[in-house]
Amino acid sequence: MKITVTVIKADVGGIGGHTRPSDGLLNAVKNIVKPQVRNDGKGLLIDHYIGYCGDDIHIVMTHTKGVDNREIHQLAWKAFEAATQVAKNEGLYGAGQDLLKDSFSGNVKGMGPGVAEMQFEERPNEAFTIYAADKTEPGAFNYPFYRMFVDTLSNTGLIVNQNLARGVRITVMDVEKGKTAQLNMWEDKPTLEAALMYPGRYVVSAVHTKDNLPILSASTDRLHNIAGKYVGKDDPICIVRTQKDFPATEEAGAAFSNPHYVAGNTRGSHHMPLMPVKLNSSASINYAIPIVSSLVFSMHNGKLVGPIDGFGTADWDYIRTIAVKRAIAMRSQGFVHPATLVPSELEYAEGYRARMSILWSRMRPIPSGNASKQFQKPNHPQQQKTNQPQHPRPTHPQQNKPNQSKPNQPKPQQPKPTHPQQHKPQQHKPNSPKPAQTKESPKSKLTEKPKTEKQTK
Ligand code: MG
Ligand code: MG
Repeated sequence: MKITVTVIKADVGGIGGHTRPSDGLLNAVKNIVKPQVRNDGKGLLIDHYIGYCGDDIHIVMTHTKGVDNREIHQLAWKAFEAATQVAKNEGLYGAGQDLLKDSFSGNVKGMGPGVAEMQFEERPNEAFTIYAADKTEPGAFNYPFYRMFVDTLSNTGLIVNQNLARGVRITVMDVEKGKTAQLNMWEDKPTLEAALMYPGRYVVSAVHTKDNLPILSASTDRLHNIAGKYVGKDDPICIVRTQKDFPATEEAGAAFSNPHYVAGNTRGSHHMPLMPVKLNSSASINYAIPIVSSLVFSMHNGKLVGPIDGFGTADWDYIRTIAVKRAIAMRSQGFVHPATLVPSELEYAEGYRARMSILWSRMRPIPSGNASKQFQKPNHPQQQKTNQPQHPRPTHPQQNKPNQSKPNQPKPQQPKPTHPQQHKPQQHKPNSPKPAQTKESPKSKLTEKPKTEKQTK
């Protein structure tokens, strides 16, 4: 029997901040979803479960309508709309935060809520785990997914399970360009590793066996790509099928046992460790340490048993302690990167730009003399002795001023630079003769910024 498991999550309000939904919100969601679970076949759903992780409510639904089904997505959208109304009535913080569109348009993807779903032929004893996270981003799962499906030191099943040992097919999404690539283990392992270095952009969205059986589906939306500005963290959720030909439930769970640093937490602008927490935990008010919870289900004919709390046993208390220690270590350096994200990833980019605009407005060229000569490395005699092209010192965007050589000079033929960082500014004075070495230096030919029409007139 083909069953679809769909989990849709959204943050539509929290008590006193970005903490957890109120009981009123959860009841509003249940009142919309539960009537669709009917034994007479007239409801949309076979079964459901509703819970939360931090301020995100997740709706787990089983049905036979396949993925991207309009009715299923609309049901979740209506439930979150009803909860939003309650959140407004209760004065909760961030009411309707993740509902970024005014009206439903057929699929909640790209509208704010996160979606993970997969359709598969149900096994006689179907087992799967849902991991729900808060105060972080979809790429937070890259590292545990790598441990589950690629790292044999973390998962012995990759060696001794015949199916896993053949390698899996991992779908990586570029969340900025909205494109995906299929990477086959084991031949594409280093390519996968290169992609997973930067979880802010490249995200594992699905995993299949070589026989095309679905093992994993993860939400990949980035809210600020939808809204164009910061509206909250795109907290991820995923479904991982376990046992038999897939990772054992405990192999998948153990992938979260080393709380790695992820982007998110307070103001979505910091790095902190991903801390495993118990089911239906509030977000931490200790600078909003990123959290992840584990919902372990069995399913038969679409009927759910569970969840049990995957991170609820005593051993996970120790892992939580490790996470807290790492969180304190990172916070001990305050605003200094990598405690904070790089500027392009800061969710409060507007406020940062406001501060930096003051700094930039006070920037002045370095006076000529010894100080300025150090920025003309292409002409350094030592560098002319080698034929090795060398990368110039990266410069601040403000330093990329146009070449100010004398107007009406003929435009010299210069090769185009091959890398943006090679845009070395020319800082000699407008009327000063061009240093003779420039023509000779092999480095300068590689690095000099081509003159524009405006500069050479
Ligand atoms: Mg919130
Ligand atoms: Mg959240």
